[in-house]
Order: sequence, then structure tokens, then C-alpha cells
Amino acid sequence: MNILVTGGAGFIGSHVVRRFVKNYSNYTIFNLDALTYAGNLENLIDIDTYHNYNFLKGDIVDSQYINKLFQSTNFDGVIHLAAESHVDRSIEDPLAFVRTNIIGTVNLLNAAKDSWKDNFEGKRFYHISTDEVYGSLGSEGLFAEETSYDPNSPYSASKASSDHFVRSYGKTYGLPYVVTNCSNNYGPYHFPEKLIPLFINNIIEKKNLPVYGDGKYTRDWLYVEDHAKAIDLVFHKGNNGETYNIGGFNEWQNIDLVKLLCSVMDKKLNRSQGESEQLITYVKDRPGHDLRYAIDASKINKELGWKPTVTFEEGLEITVDWYLNNSEWLKNVTSGDYKEYYSKMYS
Ligand code: NAD
Repeated sequence: MNILVTGGAGFIGSHVVRRFVKNYSNYTIFNLDALTYAGNLENLIDIDTYHNYNFLKGDIVDSQYINKLFQSTNFDGVIHLAAESHVDRSIEDPLAFVRTNIIGTVNLLNAAKDSWKDNFEGKRFYHISTDEVYGSLGSEGLFAEETSYDPNSPYSASKASSDHFVRSYGKTYGLPYVVTNCSNNYGPYHFPEKLIPLFINNIIEKKNLPVYGDGKYTRDWLYVEDHAKAIDLVFHKGNNGETYNIGGFNEWQNIDLVKLLCSVMDKKLNRSQGESEQLITYVKDRPGHDLRYAIDASKINKELGWKPTVTFEEGLEITVDWYLNNSEWLKNVTSGDYKEYYSKMYS
């Protein structure tokens, strides 16, 4: 089997690529990534020399490149993770999200459809998406697969659009696809613009911890390797034409999460309890901020037997340890452009 993974040098993609390369030595894994600011080959240094791993530097927005790639390699499956993924950046530059998340996805769909030439036996296009497409919940309720789409940020609107394109290729051309919509991930190799790694880095450097609004925004958190396991399962056992929601059954208000993280960090850094909490600073809210996301993951649980295996306390501890033990990685990704971005967003 030849499998194309897009966005494999990013956070979730690197966990997926590592899992497939290590667990399926009979597959050849092609990791296609444009290496934007969020892509980093250091995330995959440990599997770089595996015989079944190939890295391809390329942009999914470049349809000529994508078509040629599909003509020269007979892919059996596509696991599509490449995306612009940060909500705050989507507010600054929505078109970048239209290009990669919508046009890039349609380029891949076209290339898959054309190269598979309507002989879809044994083929699968797997699109990875987010719970943010469903919009915002009040204090009650959960997002189910049937929940109507109601995206509120340019990021979630672009992901919603790409989900619709994938489904339309299933209906119109018979392309075999699966879509999963997952809640917030955390874990090693997460780029420090997102809440948990940003705050770990800021606590190490004793910088302010910018909490949006009143800190009551609620998210469901899932350890990234549990997401990678779910992706493996859906890729192999999911039913074509289906959507599965993936979540951690683990809701946290931002402020409670930040306080828990501060306490773990104080312990690890031998600081007095409460020291890092002093860094919390409430900042002006993000426009269009969704109040609460929460996932009903009972379908994937009942149909495919998936459930999270890592508790939040365990996952957070593994994550904090990883960042503390990988200061070189952190230093490399927070030098250069990151500094400029950080001062624009937070000063
Ligand atoms: P990420 O930003 O860490 O990684 C994205 C990767 O895509 C990077 O390696 C980047 O270089 C690559 N990329 C970007 N534009 C590209 C282009 N035009 N061509 C080729 N490669 C390109 O993102 P992530 O957090 O790992 O998310 C991966 C996927 O999972 C995304 O589709 C995202 O929407 C989805 N998702 C993420 C989360 C989360 O909590 N992080 C939750 C649910 C779903």
C-alpha cells in the first residue's frame, strides 16, 4: 500500500506518520508537506531513515505539482491533515486559509479522483477536520455527527468548506471518503502558538500568560496519540461516506486548565506553588470567540471501539516533561519568525 499523508511535518501529522511508519512496515508512507512555519522535520528525526518513509516537500495549493505526483505514484489512500490551523492567524489573513484549506483540499480530491479513474476499489480519501465547524455550544449539549455546521471563524469556515467538498466528491463522483471531526489536541511537538505549549514556554521564561476574556471558554482536550490511534482505526475500519466525531470526554474552562498547568509546572521547575499563576493576565477577547465546544464521541466508540486511553493529568505530565526535556526543539521553533509573530499578537 502507498499512503499519502499531507501535513505530516506538523503537530498531529507527525504523530500519525510515526505511528504508520512504525506499525505498518509493509506500507510505504509519503509525507507531503510545504514546511510552513508550522511544519518541522525535526518532529520526525527518529523515523527519518526508516525504509518505508519518504518525505516530499510540496504545496497542496499547486495543482500541477499535485496532479503530477498522483500520476507518478499510485496511492491507495490519502490521509489529509495539511492545513492552516491557527484561529488567530485566520483572523489576520483569511485568504491563506482559503488557499490551503479549501483550494488545497479540492486539488487533492481532483487528483485522487482522476488518478483512481473511477476504479475506487480499495481506495480511501480520509479528511481530518475539527469540531470547530459546528460553531459554539451554550452550557449544555454536545456536538454529534448530525449537528448542523455553523462555523464562526475564518479557520472553521475554511475547514467546514473543505468538509463539504469532500462529501460532495463522495456523492457526485463516488469517491470513497471518511471525515473525522476532532476536539482540541495537546501533546509533544505542538507549535507554541497554541494554548498549552505557548503557556508552557511562557512559564519557563516567566512571561505573562495571556488568557482571553474572562477565561471561561470551554474546550474538550484529547491527547494527540489518542487522536493518532483513532485516525489509524478509522482509516482501516471506518465505513466509507461516514463522519466520526472524536473527543476526549474532557472539558476544561481555559482558566482552570491554565491553573492546573501552572501547578504542574511549579512542581516540575521546583518553584513555589502559586508562583506561575502570578503570570496570568486577562487580555482582550478574540473576535467571534466560541464559548464552548464539546464532542459526543459515542459513534466511534460504539462502531469502532475507540476511546481515549490517556487521562488529562497523565497527558499533561507527559507533555510538560517532553517540553522540558526538548529545550533545543523549543528554542529552534521560537527563534526567528516566531518572535515577530509573538510581539505582534501579545504586546
Ligand atoms: P499544524 O499547523 O501543526 O500542521 C499543519 C501542517 O500542514 C504543517 O506541517 C504545515 O507545514 C503543513 N501545510 C500547511 N499548508 C500547507 C500546504 N499548502 N501544502 C502542504 N502542507 C501544508 O496543524 P495540526 O494541529 O497538526 O492539525 C492538522 C490537521 O488536524 C488540520 O487539518 C487541522 O485542521 C486538524 N485538527 C487539528 C486539531 C488540533 O487541536 N490541533 C483538532 C482537530 C483537527
